[in-house]
Amino acid sequence: MHIVCAGHINWDVRLHVDRLPTPDGEGLIKRRHESGGGSAANVAVGLAELGGASHVLGSVGDDERGAKATRRLEDAGVEPHVRAVGKATTVKYILVNEAGDVALLGTDGANESFGSDDLPVATLEGAGALHLTGQDPETAAELARRASPETVVSFDPGRRAADRDYDAVFGHVDLLFVNAREAQALDVDVPIIVTKLGAKGATWAGPDGVVESPGIDVEAVVDTTGAGDAFAAGFFTAWLDDRDPARALRVANACGALAVGEEGPDANLSWERIETMLDR
Ligand code: ADP
Repeated sequence: MHIVCAGHINWDVRLHVDRLPTPDGEGLIKRRHESGGGSAANVAVGLAELGGASHVLGSVGDDERGAKATRRLEDAGVEPHVRAVGKATTVKYILVNEAGDVALLGTDGANESFGSDDLPVATLEGAGALHLTGQDPETAAELARRASPETVVSFDPGRRAADRDYDAVFGHVDLLFVNAREAQALDVDVPIIVTKLGAKGATWAGPDGVVESPGIDVEAVVDTTGAGDAFAAGFFTAWLDDRDPARALRVANACGALAVGEEGPDANLSWERIETMLDR
């Protein structure tokens, strides 16, 4: 049973700074790190690392960064359905201060130049799950409409959830991922809502009530970007296995904790590392 992740494939430039500059202020860049990123790509990589069959649908520019972002997917064992278009690959400049707070700047590049037709019909229809991430609302709604009734449709709209009109998507969603800030901004009626609470862990709210799961202590927070994507990959893998919310949250929190200890969005997930986290 394969999982299709649809949404952004980006190139991330991560700048570790002494402070996030305020207007007229200046910060010092202490370290710089570049890698493939984008929520759809990150979740697909995490799923593949955990042994799942994952596909990603997205778009990049016909340039070196696009080629490298696509190679990252192939190297992880993800099946890429990536359209390369005549625009630059989207670049996210991610400023991270010493406390782990993040500010983002992004270019308006190629990351929304794909459509639902770029995914083979049989790949979508046969999917065990369709994981939608922040993207053009029309494309997301079309994919959700085309998914088979047996396919679990999940959605993690991300930071810009409140800026875009995803109403046509929410009606198809079985499972919604939000962080604490997004939970306040969104008021939607979906069967299951998983709320990510940073170091405090996460909650699951569904037809059987609410399940809470505490966060896992990490020795050092290196970089929180991608924590939510690793969390989603872990949650999904466990959830599709036995639909046990308590176990899915524990596995997801372990994946999120592994991600914050790693530079960049690649959390290097494995079941062995998850077990070690859970034994703490
Ligand atoms: P997002 O990255 O989507 O904004 P969160 O910041 O809540 O969402 O992080 C996602 C998940 O990553 C959390 O639910 C938790 O499991 C894990 N996580 C994030 N920050 C920490 C931390 N400081 N310590 C341990 N786990 C963390």
